[in-house]
Amino acid sequence: MASHCPHCKDRRLNPARIENDLPAMSCDGCGGSLLSLVAYRHWRESQPEHAVDDVAEYGLDEVKDTSIALCCPKCRHFMTKFRVSADAQNQIDLCVHCDEAWLDHGEWQLLDRLALAGKLTQVFTQPWQNRVRSTQAERRAEQLWSERLGPHYPRAHELREWLRRNPQAREILAYINQVRDDIPL
Ligand SMILES: [Zn+2]
Ligand SMILES: [Zn+2]
Repeated sequence: MASHCPHCKDRRLNPARIENDLPAMSCDGCGGSLLSLVAYRHWRESQPEHAVDDVAEYGLDEVKDTSIALCCPKCRHFMTKFRVSADAQNQIDLCVHCDEAWLDHGEWQLLDRLALAGKLTQVFTQPWQNRVRSTQAERRAEQLWSERLGPHYPRAHELREWLRRNPQAREILAYINQVRDDIPL
């Protein structure tokens, strides 16, 4: 039975290759690809040192991302979204029943650019997702501090990072803390 594109729905997926030795089923309409993780693992094993090659021409804005829930072209279950990294907004859809990943147009190249093409299956693990989430939370907190401290933020940030690496951080903080008494509320 022919599979249809989960995005365009009325278009069929055709056999294609997203790398020389990596087959997938692609949609001519949106440029997305359905990648079997079985095929991916097989490819990965044959490429122990997958190099990040010249994909610099792919800007982030050329990468599409589907934010709506997709149905797996094979089993019709909803696919689960996995964030790739804290730096990219893109999410990769995975059917946990079929072990098939859906890559929107340009997402494979994005993975390649982030040097994650060889780590695709790790992206789908809880530790990876937790790490992405905590990095994002840290960045949000940093953003809030930057708004709150305004022009003083760069210096405060620098001081904090310096303290973080300083073996005498506690003593230095105690010393700095003395200034509290002189600061009006
Ligand atoms: Zn399509
Ligand atoms: Zn499925």
